[in-house]
Amino acid sequence: MGEKRKGQLIVLSGPSGVGKGEICKRVLNELDGVILSVSATTRKPRPSEREGISYFFVSRERFEAMIDAGELLEYMDVFGTNYYGTPKRFVEESIEKGLDVILEIDVNGAMNVKRVMPDAIAIFIAPPSLFELKRRLTGRGTETAEQIEKRFAKARDELCMIDHYDYVVVNDDLRRAVQDVEDIIRADRLRVCRAEGIKASFCAGEALDK
Ligand code: 5GP
Repeated sequence: MGEKRKGQLIVLSGPSGVGKGEICKRVLNELDGVILSVSATTRKPRPSEREGISYFFVSRERFEAMIDAGELLEYMDVFGTNYYGTPKRFVEESIEKGLDVILEIDVNGAMNVKRVMPDAIAIFIAPPSLFELKRRLTGRGTETAEQIEKRFAKARDELCMIDHYDYVVVNDDLRRAVQDVEDIIRADRLRVCRAEGIKASFCAGEALDK
């Protein structure tokens, strides 16, 4: 028994402004064995953001070189102006070490991850309503009116993609939403397919007098 298990890839996605960033932060603080994949982006940093923590902020040239070198698990031209992508090596190495890795990415990115890694758990974070989503997008004050409209239009399309996910968590109460995501991760750790060591020892007829 006790064979080291591999980690799991968890994709947390949903429309912009739904609060997935805050949910993600709290899950990372509260649950052991979970780590965040830091994405690369060509977007300019916001005042509160830090290099290597919020994102790896890179030029378009650098990002395109990463695409060409096959260094990204998935990437998207998210708002038609900026690239966002998931560095592959970090994800693979962390899973190998037994850590559960969270990707906080957009809906198209989530679908692309499911295509290359079908075992990944895809969790859709939904707003309580479209009205509330618009209020949150406007309230954060980090985008122009035009950018908000773009994000809101994209959000409406993304909400129709729920069927492609494994789980949906409605973020009407932050504490509850965090708990739901943690419960999904904990339950996944108990799946038989993730307990190779246990299965092997029982089936090999481990000595009873130990
Ligand atoms: P923001 O500019 O607000 O940080 O992020 C914009 C959108 O890009 C969000 O929906 C966010 O989840 C998504 N995003 C962030 N990193 C990645 C990534 O690596 N891949 C993809 N596909 N989307 C990402």
